[in-house]
Amino acid sequence: MKLEKSLASGKRFGARYGRRVRHKFSKVESEQKRAHKCPYCSDFKVRRLAVGIWSCSKCGAKFTGRAYTIPKKVIIKEEVAKEEVIAKEKKEEKKEKKPGEEKPKKYKERKKAKESEEKAEKEAEG
Ligand SMILES: [Zn+2]
Repeated sequence: MKLEKSLASGKRFGARYGRRVRHKFSKVESEQKRAHKCPYCSDFKVRRLAVGIWSCSKCGAKFTGRAYTIPKKVIIKEEVAKEEVIAKEKKEEKKEKKPGEEKPKKYKERKKAKESEEKAEKEAEG
């Protein structure tokens, strides 16, 4: 069996409640009470206010997370808005493209297209 580390905060229970429960409790509590990294200013100043509510003492951000810890990736409202805008633009681009207007795939075809474009430019210039 694996040797477990010291009880830390679980010591306050003395001999009560059982060894395994005290170990589990101390593991959770140490995670809950440590300072977490802020997803907004990335400083280790985030503390737990209540179950699932976290607050940064540096930038004042208040956000939801998990009960005893912050999830690995906190979804920030601004990011969600940006992603939605990008998704909309992509959809519009797809709509604009017509099946007949695809670019020529072969090298020779591309070269021909380039040459014809250059000719047209030269004619436009002079
Ligand atoms: Zn912060």
